[in-house]
Amino acid sequence: MLIRVPWLPFRWEALALKWVIFYIRIDNRLLAHEMVHVQQQTEMGLCVYLWHYIWDKEFRYDVEFEAYRNGSGMTSTEADKMAKRYI
Ligand SMILES: [Zn+2]
Repeated sequence: MLIRVPWLPFRWEALALKWVIFYIRIDNRLLAHEMVHVQQQTEMGLCVYLWHYIWDKEFRYDVEFEAYRNGSGMTSTEADKMAKRYI
């Protein structure tokens, strides 16, 4: 389910919480990125995912790298640069 919102924390443009993706603006590339997070959250459970995402910067880097690499279709170098913004 996609829900448009006027504001998200940390200047994010979208936020996936399992089956709901909140967004300010979205395009296919960002949607694919968020769908990787949906898959990650489904595989490890939302609570475990959120706990590690909030408290573990290496975890945050890893999941963002995967989302930028496999969802957004960036090169490894580009995905590394973007994922480093989250640590
Ligand atoms: Zn992300």
